[in-house]
This record gives sequence, structure tokens and C-alpha cells, in this order.
Amino acid sequence: LDARESYAIEYWPLELYKLTLQPPEAEFSRQVALITGGAGGIGSATARHFLNQGAHVVLADINLEGAQKVADELNAIYGAGRALPVKVDVTDEKAVIDSFAETILAYGGVDHLVNNAGIAAASPFDETSLKDWNFNINILATGYFLVAREAFRQMKLQGLGGSMVFITSKNAVYAGKNSAAYSSAKAAEAHLARCIAAEGGEFGIRVNSVLPDAVLQGSAIWSSRWRNERAQAYGIEPDQLEEYYRKRTTLQVNIYPDDIANAIIFLASTQSAKTTGCMITVDGGVPAAFTR
Ligand code: NAD
Repeated sequence: LDARESYAIEYWPLELYKLTLQPPEAEFSRQVALITGGAGGIGSATARHFLNQGAHVVLADINLEGAQKVADELNAIYGAGRALPVKVDVTDEKAVIDSFAETILAYGGVDHLVNNAGIAAASPFDETSLKDWNFNINILATGYFLVAREAFRQMKLQGLGGSMVFITSKNAVYAGKNSAAYSSAKAAEAHLARCIAAEGGEFGIRVNSVLPDAVLQGSAIWSSRWRNERAQAYGIEPDQLEEYYRKRTTLQVNIYPDDIANAIIFLASTQSAKTTGCMITVDGGVPAAFTR
């Protein structure tokens, strides 16, 4: 017997001790996680992590076909009805309200929000049009505001607390070249998270941010025009980007959707029950590498 076992047998009723040997109930069983951008790279990986720990997930995305495809794949693995695709344009106030109504009708509530739907658009500052600026601000900052406000209202109504995790970017803190609009919108998201955290505390609603650096593979942003634009900006070929990103980190690693999902799950779980208003970077240590 190790020390823990002998302590338990000596002081605990045997039945109670047996209980401690049972596998703990899954972290998120009977809970619902609404993930915006659920059809995308980070969103779909995050859905899988929530499902692994017992949750039901809502894949809220402007791309309903993509969300349906992800939901079909997940339901085939985790069981019918565990993942629900919902169409929403996060810039449309009514559509956001409707998406919560659809979620509540299907699953009865919302315990976790992952505010994640987004785009990436780059342009030199003096070539950034008002349209470019508004595009970034609307989808990122305003979209996060509309979705979080609805989640806050619902969680407050349920009276059971809840968690919100905002996927912002390392650009929320560090300046990015050719990305004034995107980076400013990401900074707004991160600050919005802290402001909501300040108001959510009394209701047990925790709000935190994850700040990724470039996320490789599995992400539509990674496989699109963005990849060629980034390579061009760094003066390299697109197939050299992976190595480029790896070499600039302190840990000499690339970042993948599962790495972001791990941070999200930590911030949604009881493991971080006393953490709110914080920002976690998942970037392999880029800023440290810059100081070398
Ligand atoms: P992705 O393109 O794979 O997924 C984004 C999803 O958002 C897509 O499914 C898209 O349809 C959806 N979407 C876009 N506009 C929408 C709208 N108006 N309403 C509803 N849904 C909308 O990209 P990803 O890498 O999974 O990005 C997720 C988040 O992570 C974004 O907020 C992005 O800015 C952030 N991020 C990504 C990276 C990266 O390198 N991929 C780095 C830092 C931060």
C-alpha cells in the first residue's frame, strides 16, 4: 500500500474509498459548448476536444455546408446528436440571436462559448481602405461583441456561471506588419474579453483569451490566399513557411489547431476555475525569440 491508500483505508469508509477509484465523470458531461467558426481549423479541432470530454457542441458558422460536414464526421464518431451545425453570420445581430435560440431549443442552454469565427486580411497601412478596415473590425471585434453579449445574457439567465474563451492573436499584443486593421481588431477582442470578465465575475462567468501565432494545417486561413501573401511578405516560397515559422520560435516548434484547442479546454475547464480576464499565448515563444 502506498501512503495514499493506507490513509484512505484507515480514515475513509470503504465505499467512499472505492468511489475515488472510479474514473471521474467527464469534465463537460451534460454541458454545451457553442463554437463560432466551428467549420474551420481551430473550431473543428476544439469541437473534438470538447466532445472527448463529454460535451455537446454547436458549430456556428457562416459556412453551413462546412459546419454540416464537420458535424456529420463528429456525430459518426461520438454518437448522433452530439454536434449541431448552425448557420450564423456573426456580424448580423438578428442572426446571432437566432443562433442562440436554435441552440437552446436543441440542447437547452449554453455553458461555454468559444468566440473564434474570423478572417485574415493583410495590406500595407497606406493601402488599407476604409472597406478593409471595416471588414476586419466588423467580423472580428463586432462579431465577438455580438456573440459574447448573447452568451452573457444566456449564462446569466441560467444562473450556473459559464466560460468564454476568445481566440484572438499574438497580434493583439505585438504589432504586425501589413496588418493594422486585423491587429487592431484582435486587440479590441482581447480587451473586450477582459471587460466582460470584470462584469461576469459576480455571475461566475469567466472570460479569457488565447493568443495564437500562425497556426499551420487544418486551417482554411492557412490553406488560402493568406499563405501566399505571408510567404511573399517574408520573401520566401510558400512551402518554406512551416520552417520559417518554426525557426523563429524559442521552442523551435510549429503551432497546430490541437495546440490551440488544448489551451481552450484548459480555460473552459474547472482546472482554471480561478482564472478570468487572462491572456494565454500559444506561439512557441515568438516574442522571446525576437529579443535574441
Ligand atoms: P479558419 O478559416 O479555418 O476558420 C474560421 C471560420 O470562421 C471559418 O469556418 C469561416 O467560415 C468562419 N467565419 C468567417 N467569417 C464568419 C462570419 N462572419 N460569421 C460566422 N463565421 C464566420 O481559420 P482558423 O485558423 O481556424 O481561425 C480561427 C480564429 O483564430 C480566427 O479568429 C483567427 O483570426 C484566429 N487566429 C488564427 C491564426 C492562424 O494562423 N490560423 C492565428 C492567430 C489567430
